[in-house]
Amino acid sequence: MSPRGGPRLLTGAPIAAEIRAGVKDRVAAYQRQQGYRPCLAVVLVGKDAPSFVYLQQILRSCRNVGASGRLVEVSGRSSNAHLRAVLSELNQDPLIHGIIVQMPLPKHLDLETVVETLDPAKDVDGITPLNAGLLSLGKDAFQPATARAAVEILVRSGVELKGKRAVVVGRSNVVGKPAALLLLREHATVTVAHSRTADLRGLLRTADVVVAAIGRPNFVTGSMLRRGAVVVDVGINVVDGSLVGDVDQASAREVVSAITPVPGGVGPVTNAILLSQLITAAERQAAAEPRGRRARRTGAAHALH
Ligand code: NAP
Repeated sequence: MSPRGGPRLLTGAPIAAEIRAGVKDRVAAYQRQQGYRPCLAVVLVGKDAPSFVYLQQILRSCRNVGASGRLVEVSGRSSNAHLRAVLSELNQDPLIHGIIVQMPLPKHLDLETVVETLDPAKDVDGITPLNAGLLSLGKDAFQPATARAAVEILVRSGVELKGKRAVVVGRSNVVGKPAALLLLREHATVTVAHSRTADLRGLLRTADVVVAAIGRPNFVTGSMLRRGAVVVDVGINVVDGSLVGDVDQASAREVVSAITPVPGGVGPVTNAILLSQLITAAERQAAAEPRGRRARRTGAAHALH
């Protein structure tokens, strides 16, 4: 409970700031050692205005930690082959260390094209089969940033997960499934619910921790939750021009002990996680590179600055 009554609000901003501060130091050290900045390529296919705004935010946050970002705009009429060629070029570019592709893609393009082409070493949003497989084996991997943000908020807020019953609502590859795996890693007892789950209400009433990643505005209401539960609301839905989550925040706040707000909960942390995975990718690529090639690259980078 917060000192003024009502549940504790698990706001993302202080956690994101903490993560970004660590990233900023690592970026400065990287730049001192390598002579150039880590760079994130953000690929936008087609002219989707909300995506464009979101990607501009990511580019700004790259700059805020001293990294650089490159917006790569691809025509919405491109073929799968063209998209594959663009991604292959970014894979090969030694001055690009992380790549994200804005979803959803235009309908005629396959997600598989992206997932199968991206170099796992630059896959800072954890969508490639290698990173997904490593995560499911409990090994070190780049993780889907939103899923990791959802769990990071709980861990960094000191919410006990060991032995707790956690229910994740949603089983997408980008949020629900990886969030469940990350909760397992924290020793929670995890159940994943989805659109075919029988008696979701009954299941949720057993949960100490709920992660809602459904994509339906205000879907989980207070009457579905156990008193004292901790809730992470991953949802981002626009209703009448406002952002609302997948949890009906007003009724949920009557019963839960802690909840992430929307907006201002998972979103900012997702962004910070992306940056932390970018600097990790850059550090690993530098460590893995043969010396001669690094010297040539450093020379090339100096020439660019
Ligand atoms: P998604 O791919 O559409 O997946 C939604 C999941 O919810 C599916 O597994 C679906 O089940 C399940 N579901 C749908 N209706 C349900 C119902 N009536 N009862 C139980 N489960 C139901 O969505 P997503 O990409 O995972 O995103 C989930 C939410 O997170 C969205 O609101 C999205 O906007 C938000 N999001 C937030 C961030 C952030 O940074 N905060 C980033 C990405 C996404 P089936 O598998 O059976 O269809």
